[in-house]
Amino acid sequence: MVNIADNCRRVLASIAEVAAKCGRNPADIKLLAAAKTQDVAAIETAITVGIKLVGENYVQEAAAKIEQISQPVSWHMIGHLQRNKAKAAAELFDVIESLDNLPLARELDKAGRKLGKVVKTFVEVNLAGEESKTGIAAAALFGLLNDVSKLEYLTVEGLMTIPPYRENLEEVRPYFRRLHGLQSEINALELPRVNITELSMGMTHDFTVAIEEGATIVRVGTALFGPRKA
Ligand SMILES: *Cc1c(COP(=O)(O)O)cnc(C)c1O
Repeated sequence: MVNIADNCRRVLASIAEVAAKCGRNPADIKLLAAAKTQDVAAIETAITVGIKLVGENYVQEAAAKIEQISQPVSWHMIGHLQRNKAKAAAELFDVIESLDNLPLARELDKAGRKLGKVVKTFVEVNLAGEESKTGIAAAALFGLLNDVSKLEYLTVEGLMTIPPYRENLEEVRPYFRRLHGLQSEINALELPRVNITELSMGMTHDFTVAIEEGATIVRVGTALFGPRKA
């Protein structure tokens, strides 16, 4: 039996411990529960124990859960988002963490305009240039931000990344460090509506190193909920 409440407490304690060790304020690090395939009861348990951010990967799956969960929680889209789902996503989610192309940004902006809502986004960066992964290549990031900064109904408030999986966490660290470095480079440009305050990085396997390198949001699934449901 997976005890979700215990797992949540354990991960929260671990975040606090790592933060203290590297001289960071634990309050500056938020735990996002990556809840794909998990049911409403599991998510509600996590919220009861103190989780304030929930991440979902699929718009349809999220819609059903968001409708049923009434506790106040911030919903983050962390999966690849197709353009034709942009409007639904803009309506459902508080933050779209997976913005990685201009056509999608344009659709989100259009949706925001219609809904009378400024759409909060993070840009997902594919730092290792892995073909199998989504996210914009680092080389194209500044061009995208420049274009996106012209869209009035969209803000960019964070960066998100999923580094390659490595057993040895020291091989993952440089990716987190690079994302952190990009934050100051971007903010120095003072683009309209682009101000990076959040770094969403680190998952079950590597969140400790991500915190050491400046993560403000760690996205954890397995360590909270156990293995994903089929
Ligand atoms: C599933 C998922 C996570 C959580 O992964 P775990 O290894 O289970 O902690 C984090 N981020 C994204 C984008 C995911 O899809």
